[in-house]
Amino acid sequence: MIDSDVHNTTRLIVEPDFPGDKRCAMCRRTRGVYVLEIHHILPKGWGGPSTEAQSARGSVWEYADANCHNTVHLILDHMKRVGEWDATYVQHWDFPAGVVRYAKAGWERYLEKLENREETSQL
Ligand SMILES: [Zn+2]
Ligand SMILES: [Zn+2]
Repeated sequence: MIDSDVHNTTRLIVEPDFPGDKRCAMCRRTRGVYVLEIHHILPKGWGGPSTEAQSARGSVWEYADANCHNTVHLILDHMKRVGEWDATYVQHWDFPAGVVRYAKAGWERYLEKLENREETSQL
């Protein structure tokens, strides 16, 4: 089962004359990236908000190139499978720090969401 939102995401072309803030938030690369995707920090498929409004950039979603985007979902899907933040896995594959940071943020939001759900169900 695929839980992530990586396969039905919005893609946009990076325009060469666009100011430098339109780049992958995870690796910050400025060369060799032509397409950016919108990554929802708490994935839509995990119950996260689906907005793509510019005002929600940084809090709900961020730009990611295809490689970083696939990698952040690879990490998230692994953590969901094992049910905890698996630091050994992250170290073993030596994922880029920026990608790991977004994966961890998504994982923590997912845990918060689970806790909130439990609190609500006890009421
Ligand atoms: Zn990147
Ligand atoms: Zn994503």
